[in-house]
Amino acid sequence: MPRIDLHLHTTYSDGSHFPAEVIQFAHEAGVTALAITDHDIVKGIPEAMEAGATVGIEIIPGIELSSRFDGRETHILGYFFDWQDPTLHTRLTHQQASRHERNPRIVEKLNHLGLELSYEDVTAKAGGGSIGRPHIAGVLVDKGYVNSTKEAFDRYLAEGGPAYVLRELPDSREAIAWIREAGGVPVLAHPHWTRRKGQELEVMCSTLKEAGLMGIEVFYGTHTKRQTSEYLELARKLDLLMTGGSDFHGAAKPDIQVGRGRGDLKVTDKLLEPLRKAARH
Ligand code: AMP
Ligand code: ZN
Ligand code: FE
Ligand code: FE
Repeated sequence: MPRIDLHLHTTYSDGSHFPAEVIQFAHEAGVTALAITDHDIVKGIPEAMEAGATVGIEIIPGIELSSRFDGRETHILGYFFDWQDPTLHTRLTHQQASRHERNPRIVEKLNHLGLELSYEDVTAKAGGGSIGRPHIAGVLVDKGYVNSTKEAFDRYLAEGGPAYVLRELPDSREAIAWIREAGGVPVLAHPHWTRRKGQELEVMCSTLKEAGLMGIEVFYGTHTKRQTSEYLELARKLDLLMTGGSDFHGAAKPDIQVGRGRGDLKVTDKLLEPLRKAARH
């Protein structure tokens, strides 16, 4: 049975590989369709489409929007939207501005904590595109302050950590509306990341559904079997579509492979047609 991967990052955000490289990995893994879902940016899509055409992989327009729901950072994936939509572009430019405003303040906080790094180190690490905390984490690894991205987040960068800076983010309901207005299908990314489960997660998903949410990312690179079945049940109960992907980043998450996650991920291509049908064409 063919597999797909609907959650992948490239150098246009905090992934370490160019779109063409990601597509080559996908080809090797037997992936037949994929979506590049860079954070708050669509610039990788044309390159991905070109590379996809040469190896016969369908490229679905994708994005991962940072938003906030009830005080917590929440990621909303979007699929099959018009990625050239001018209104969407304006909104993404604003998202970039909020990153540019936040990132130097994170560096400043790290400096105050006695860690020597400059914002130029970070922009050099990012190489253009959407700059994120994983790039800052990468600099901390390079300089030997921490041994891994995970350690950088655990010690400094995670929500509530000593170098965390609250960033201006749209409400998740707004992020959902952006995707719908561009004709796409909004999906709640990696539900475990919201740190909600059971009733609390269900209430959140129903509220978001009322705002236009159409799916839940049920299958994911690091979900446990138990999490997967919880989200599957929830999708059925609330009549939401199911999606899945690895959340491949390359170097920042070295244990995650395109199309395979940690080895046990297999997202069936059967999920694709319902998603395509749900989009406004
Ligand atoms: P940003 O987009 O700058 O807010 O950074 C968020 C990104 O950092 C997420 O999409 C993840 O890729 C990564 N991230 C967040 N928390 C962690 C963590 N605890 N360990 C490793 N990576 C993380
Ligand atoms: Zn990321
Ligand atoms: Fe995410
Ligand atoms: Fe992601």
